[in-house]
Amino acid sequence: MTSLNTNKAEFIKSAAAASDFIRSEIPTIVFSGKSNVGKSSVINRLLCRKNFARVGQSPGKTIHVNYFLIDEKAYFVDLPGYGYAKVSRSEKERWGKLMESFFAAEGLITLGVMIVDSRHKPTADDVTMAQWFAAAECPLVIVANKADKLKKSEIEPNLALIRTTLSLPDEVPVVLFSAEKGTGRDALMTEILKYV
Ligand code: GDP
Repeated sequence: MTSLNTNKAEFIKSAAAASDFIRSEIPTIVFSGKSNVGKSSVINRLLCRKNFARVGQSPGKTIHVNYFLIDEKAYFVDLPGYGYAKVSRSEKERWGKLMESFFAAEGLITLGVMIVDSRHKPTADDVTMAQWFAAAECPLVIVANKADKLKKSEIEPNLALIRTTLSLPDEVPVVLFSAEKGTGRDALMTEILKYV
């Protein structure tokens, strides 16, 4: 199996418009999730870094698509978070336009990685995001983050609720994850490496 040297990770660019999106033969792994779900923390955990993708930046402030090149073998693409209540209408519109243009363009996604909060039922915005990935017809992995906050007895029912709420086909894996503790890191990397 291929491997990814996560020590070789570089920031490539922030795309603010469709003309800035990267079209490449290199496999492109696209990370999405609502603000504060821990998307930056998941990416940092995958890359064994503390501060690569920024953590805890004020939600809604970064309506950009951020590209990182990993080991010259894969792009990790950090989509702007969604669902933050306090952003202005104009920022929401900017997010919507940028995401529409991203998902409308064909061939920008090799694998989608959608991060949800393992503690809660996915939000309406999460459902919409899952539909966008489904419409893009790319493979998808769901990351159920913040698992360190779950009681053992909550794991199975919560994962089942995520699967039914997002209407996931059987072939879409749901990976129980804790960016804080490292749970699920190897399982998620194994899913990603299938496409690299
Ligand atoms: P983003 O907005 O989705 O990029 O989220 P961040 O990575 O900035 O994380 C948002 C908050 O959730 C921060 O306070 C993180 O420390 C916290 N967080 C992220 N992942 C986890 C996790 O697995 N467990 C717990 N308990 N907290 C987490």
